[in-house]
Amino acid sequence: MALLGSCKEVVESLHGIVDYDMTTEKAESNCTTTKNTVGFGGKHGLHPNNEVYELLECPVCTDLMYPPIHQCPNGHTLCSNCKIRVRNCCPTCRNDLGNIRCLALEKVAESLELPCKYQSFGCQDIFPYHSKLRHEQHCHFRPYDCPYAGSECSATGDIPTLLAHLKDDHKVDMHNGCTFNHRYVKPSPHEVENATWMLTVFNCFGRQFCLHFEAFQLGMAPVYMAFLRFMGDDEEAKKFSYSLEVGANGRKLTWQGIPRSIRDSHRKVRDSQDGLIIQRNLALYFSGGDNQELKLRVTGRIWKEECD
Ligand SMILES: [Zn+2]
Ligand SMILES: [Zn+2]
Ligand SMILES: [Zn+2]
Ligand SMILES: [Zn+2]
Repeated sequence: MALLGSCKEVVESLHGIVDYDMTTEKAESNCTTTKNTVGFGGKHGLHPNNEVYELLECPVCTDLMYPPIHQCPNGHTLCSNCKIRVRNCCPTCRNDLGNIRCLALEKVAESLELPCKYQSFGCQDIFPYHSKLRHEQHCHFRPYDCPYAGSECSATGDIPTLLAHLKDDHKVDMHNGCTFNHRYVKPSPHEVENATWMLTVFNCFGRQFCLHFEAFQLGMAPVYMAFLRFMGDDEEAKKFSYSLEVGANGRKLTWQGIPRSIRDSHRKVRDSQDGLIIQRNLALYFSGGDNQELKLRVTGRIWKEECD
């Protein structure tokens, strides 16, 4: 589509990327009718009725609108993100949008208290409209991203959901126990650059830990790295410690650390080098044999720190 495509083209292209229906009443609601349709459940509107929710739902992206809320000269509202995307063309009536704020709806928004959007995940908190967004960024009930590295997996969920997902969709090995003895074997270690990664999940203390093992290039040096991530939040992760050990022929490398929460991405942990790092030459030496095969035995232990 040409950069200066007509308003109609923009609207049509928008249909392709977002799912909205201009025939719904929601899209037709506008600021001038706000007063008639708002019904508060109480002084703070703890349970705003559905009509209020619908008024605050952007008709284009269906997210809740936060100030600044925009409207076209005919009163059709839309959120500030969508305003940028529709390029000055009202998606409902196709008039020029201009730069009109919908102050009445902004006031309604500011007076509301709403449940956290992770209510269905167990969060019972209710927030004034503005602090709701801030809370949701840190809400303990917000779903976790899939901890599997090496693929762009978009699965999210609570821990039980992710465990089932790791097992069923990624065929990840699951082990019970707080000590482990793991062998990593790679037939041609010299071809391996950023591409190898492995994940094993350990179940101990009623919690789950992800042991990551991978090859990557650290500066100029090819290295292997092993580290542990905790399937839960950071505060709880800090209550655990772990050690990793790898060696052969009377030499060994050991690492002791604190598992990182899976809220920290696999990449972030790797880039901060918060784990056991083994130079490839040393790894091959530990593998014995003729440098043709990587055969590492990594042993480890997870324990709980005694603190309250
Ligand atoms: Zn929107
Ligand atoms: Zn309009
Ligand atoms: Zn919450
Ligand atoms: Zn996944």
